[in-house]
Amino acid sequence: MRVPAKLNLQLAVGPPRADGYHDLVTVFHAVSLFDEITAEPAASDGVSVRGEGADQVPEDGDNLALRAVAALRAAAAPADAGGVHITIVKRIPVAAGLAGGSADAAAALVACNELWDVGLGQPELLEIAAGVGSDVAFALLGGTAVGRGRGERLTPALAPATPYHWVLAFAEGHLSTPEVYGTLDRLRAAEAERSGRKRMPGPVLAPALDGALMSALRSADARQLGPALSNDLQPAALSLFPALRKTLAAGLELGALGALVSGSGPTCMFLAASADRALDLAASLSGAGVCRSVARATGPVPGAAVVPTVR
Ligand code: ATP
Repeated sequence: MRVPAKLNLQLAVGPPRADGYHDLVTVFHAVSLFDEITAEPAASDGVSVRGEGADQVPEDGDNLALRAVAALRAAAAPADAGGVHITIVKRIPVAAGLAGGSADAAAALVACNELWDVGLGQPELLEIAAGVGSDVAFALLGGTAVGRGRGERLTPALAPATPYHWVLAFAEGHLSTPEVYGTLDRLRAAEAERSGRKRMPGPVLAPALDGALMSALRSADARQLGPALSNDLQPAALSLFPALRKTLAAGLELGALGALVSGSGPTCMFLAASADRALDLAASLSGAGVCRSVARATGPVPGAAVVPTVR
């Protein structure tokens, strides 16, 4: 089965919570860049990983796909459910802000639900997914959806399924998600200090859904959507990876309708006006020497979720 990468069309980040996480309001968007996952019966649970960036992915219990297998086993698998071997072919770059690990976890949940004939529907799978990681539930759902909490509380966006054309610029290097959040907190504290306030008042940072972005999505208007893309993590990602400024600027100069760091980065995403424009933009960006490689993708695409059966 295949499972898509995600982009964040909006990522609004609140102050750090007592548990170390940040409250988010985000607009997830699944795009046509897929990992491929197979699950086969085996003597014991295991995982093997091939493809793009496979050498950076653990092949033990730390692999998110195996964590998902363990979560499903604990929550709902029959006592006689045997071992499973998961094979992952990575096409989603690792630690790139595209939630590839979460995608593999979502696919493993769906695959084992079938393999063991557990029979869980989407709501139950979404609940288990939310316990495995913040982005796993969205990888099950796909499409375009608003995420709240740590991103795991999802509401599908009411928007026409008109395809958008994206160009993704993959960077030479990685960014660690916790490091990017930590940098954002430090940048915000320094900013508060500079402006004479010792503490930022809570409501100022409370994340909120962007009305302009949602209106652009409802009218399926790429020209409106481009300038409405936003990511609170972008200043932190840029301060840790300054070369991304050049990548974003190059994409805009080459005619992208919008340019943004994806999630915690370092992948940059560019919105193009049409499939042809995306092709031109991808070619020009890859010739401009501002990234490791480029890919085109369309979104929204479905997630790894099974369609719930009506009984
Ligand atoms: P996040 O989802 O935390 O924002 P990301 O999208 O930037 O992260 P991922 O590709 O999901 O990046 O990988 C993040 C980390 O998770 C990597 O350091 C990687 O070693 C680890 N990891 C565990 N399992 C997987 C997996 N199946 N695929 C990719 N990475 C995995």
